[in-house]
Amino acid sequence: MEKKNIDWSKLGFGYTRTDYRWHSEWKDGAWDEGGLVSDEYIHLLESACVFHYSQSCFEGMKAYTTKNGDIVTFRPDMNAERMMDSAARLEMPVYPKDKFVHAVIETIHANAAWVPPYGTGCSLYVRPVMIGSGPQIGVAPAPSYMFRVFVMPVGAYFKGAVKPLRVRVSDFDRAAPRGTGHIKAGLNYAMSLHPTMEAHREGFAENIYLDPATRTYVEETGGANILFVDKDNNLIVPKSDSILPSITRRSLVYVGQKYLGLNVIERPVALEEVKGFKECALCGTAAVLAPVGEIHTKEGVIALPSGMDKMGEVSAKLRTTLTGIQNGEIEAPEGWIVKVC
Ligand SMILES: *Cc1c(COP(=O)(O)O)cnc(C)c1O
Repeated sequence: MEKKNIDWSKLGFGYTRTDYRWHSEWKDGAWDEGGLVSDEYIHLLESACVFHYSQSCFEGMKAYTTKNGDIVTFRPDMNAERMMDSAARLEMPVYPKDKFVHAVIETIHANAAWVPPYGTGCSLYVRPVMIGSGPQIGVAPAPSYMFRVFVMPVGAYFKGAVKPLRVRVSDFDRAAPRGTGHIKAGLNYAMSLHPTMEAHREGFAENIYLDPATRTYVEETGGANILFVDKDNNLIVPKSDSILPSITRRSLVYVGQKYLGLNVIERPVALEEVKGFKECALCGTAAVLAPVGEIHTKEGVIALPSGMDKMGEVSAKLRTTLTGIQNGEIEAPEGWIVKVC
């Protein structure tokens, strides 16, 4: 198979039209068969529920070329399950797990020429999305739905060395207790755009959000979970019902325990105790793991001992091990790597 003519070293994280996408519709109580289409446009009514009441959820995952030349994807069953939870919470029809995994694999396969080669640091980003597509003006769930999967090649999030980030604690809240913070709803991102742009304008890479009820505990950033390493090299994982259950975070916790022998402690983490920690990192599909060097708070700056020049030792080991598993350099736990072709 001939690869597309792309300068992989210049690839960023953005939309590129690729050849095929999966399209499926739900009407009269059932999903259709679904299939690959080439048209990247969707024709919708002005009254489609998604435009008014934001009935939408999505997923984000990647496909890679491994060391031995296989095209694989990482834990698609986890994304399938999370999207089922998102859909259920938004009164959308669940896209069944086996259909989801099939759609993802078919879409990657059809766009194999777009999957970056091994060793480029690039990958194929996979974006499943579901919307309430039928007309809805009274406030109620849509009468019909659309599910799509499209893909695009994306560059390494960090070009060259992985540089620590400067982040701040936001005055805004991300997710209410008992709200929708634990599902991947588009609406969670709409309200984060303003705080995110304000943070960027003020020179910060990201916002850290606190628990809205008490503004005491660390939750996560707008699109990534947070991990800490304490003085005794324990991996400290913030726990809250309003944190989005990141698949990268859950995978790093497993890697920490089973591959690196770390002690993992999942519990609520007060902002107050962060100044006693050694390392802090953000994690998610896009960047895998991004180290944090400084956290700016109302009470002053928390400078992590790992500093602003390089990532901490434990963070580096976690990152190398997980990316090694994804690239086929390190043996993966059973079921994590699904071969496409
Ligand atoms: C998608 C997402 C993450 C990261 O999840 P991954 O499964 O690791 O990609 C973290 N936080 C939020 C709010 C997200 O939407």
